[in-house]
Amino acid sequence: MSEKYDAIVIGTGQAGPPLAVRLGQSGRKTAIIERKLVGGTCVNNGCIPTKTLIASARAAHIARRGADFGVVIGSPIRVDMARVKARKDAIVQQSNTGVTNWIKRTQNVTLIHGQARFEGPHSVRVNDTSLEAPEIFINVGGRASIPNMPGIRDVTFLTNSSMMDVDFLPEHLLVIGGSYIGLEFAQMYRRFGSRVTVIEMAPRLISREDEDVSACVQAILEGEGIAVRLNAECLSLARRADGIAVHLGCEDEPREVAGSHLLLAIGRVPNTDDLGLDKAGVKTNTRGFIEVDDQLRTSVPGIWALGDANGRGAFTHTSYNDYEIVAANLLDNDPRRVTDRIMTYALFVDPPLGRCGMTEREVRASGKRALVGKMMMARVGRARERSETQGFMQIYVDADTKRILGAALLGTEGDEAIHCILDVMAAGAPYTTLQRTMHIHPTVSELLPTLLGDLKPLT
Ligand SMILES: Cc1cc2nc3c(=O)[nH]c(=O)nc-3n(C[C@H](O)[C@H](O)[C@H](O)COP(=O)(O)OP(=O)(O)OC[C@H]3O[C@@H](n4cnc5c(N)ncnc54)[C@H](O)[C@@H]3O)c2cc1C
Repeated sequence: MSEKYDAIVIGTGQAGPPLAVRLGQSGRKTAIIERKLVGGTCVNNGCIPTKTLIASARAAHIARRGADFGVVIGSPIRVDMARVKARKDAIVQQSNTGVTNWIKRTQNVTLIHGQARFEGPHSVRVNDTSLEAPEIFINVGGRASIPNMPGIRDVTFLTNSSMMDVDFLPEHLLVIGGSYIGLEFAQMYRRFGSRVTVIEMAPRLISREDEDVSACVQAILEGEGIAVRLNAECLSLARRADGIAVHLGCEDEPREVAGSHLLLAIGRVPNTDDLGLDKAGVKTNTRGFIEVDDQLRTSVPGIWALGDANGRGAFTHTSYNDYEIVAANLLDNDPRRVTDRIMTYALFVDPPLGRCGMTEREVRASGKRALVGKMMMARVGRARERSETQGFMQIYVDADTKRILGAALLGTEGDEAIHCILDVMAAGAPYTTLQRTMHIHPTVSELLPTLLGDLKPLT
């Protein structure tokens, strides 16, 4: 059986649903296919649930620190994990239902449940039905990478997806992977009350960031009692009567860390291996990411790839921006491109790291003559008033053009204040525009002009 559509969208991640809605509104008969949960990773086992859980963890943390603020709390703080999970489930359910209803009530759009697989450049099989369309949009996202390390088949482990079912407090959570996802879970569970050990292969945490950022994040986590093991290259796993042991083969003593539960957070792989891309002739790179041009067209005319699966971003906002780029080109005659965007993201440990543009390492590699400004959060009134003075703000400016090159704001409100800098960069304005803008007192952003008033050559 074959059904004919004008457009097919595979996956309901962060780009698929808004694109399907726009396509439907443009009069195209559109099918959108989802094999699992509508809303994809961000809604069901990524951003929304983790940030909801982080909010519970922060509430516990602030309650424990009550005395610092003059608040007297009688008994020791205890976290009811079943209620924490129920709160998370309710918030996820709201978003999941919202996206589902949005798709279903859009004219010309049909939501189909099932695994999609290409049969040719214009046809996709779902369940027993073959769907055909001249335009196909891939938004299949990614999943946790499971390393083929010795002992992996002998132990039970958790990923970001199975963590969503946890409604109890692990006695000692081992987290393999000291990057964005691993660190958010590590701090969250420490605040819930678990012992936590982070095991990272590299010599430092979040090794894509600059060294001072990594060191400060490590100090923040260790300050809350999280154990960090770095340079853990030769890992093997073994089952123990009361949990799991991670053997750190070529590391300093002790060479073994044992815990009750294990979370693997060592990276993501694209969901492109079971999509039949070879049948359509769509090219991928050696890591399975779909090759796309600056307007997200794949190697096959009439097929686009959006979101994590194209390797051009790994965030909800990059996936949503991919949707905007494809819709602009296809429906609005507006030639938007991927390379127009400035990279930005946050690491939602507490206090958070807000980042945009280049790191210091990238600034140096660019060979540009640069200026740098750095300010410790202890100087920021808002941070002192909240007794949250950890971290620092750092900004890089091109000495010749006066344009901002990048920034890292590690501190309270860093994930929000970074947008002041991002917007000035996007406007192509010199740093003096931000420096001369009057800001609201008392906020973190009000110190950005002061930071920019004390730039020094980057030597
Ligand atoms: C723990 C965690 C926390 C995160 N936190 C943040 C954050 O705070 N901020 C942020 O910006 N990003 C965050 N991310 C990343 C973010 O979730 C993703 O970048 C975002 O979801 C974009 O993904 P996507 O649109 O490419 O597809 P996804 O959201 O991954 O969705 C793809 C969908 O396609 C479906 N699918 C796959 N293959 C097929 C097929 N063959 N047929 C039918 N359906 C298929 C999948 O079931 C899935 O529903 C986080 C990720 C994780 C794992």
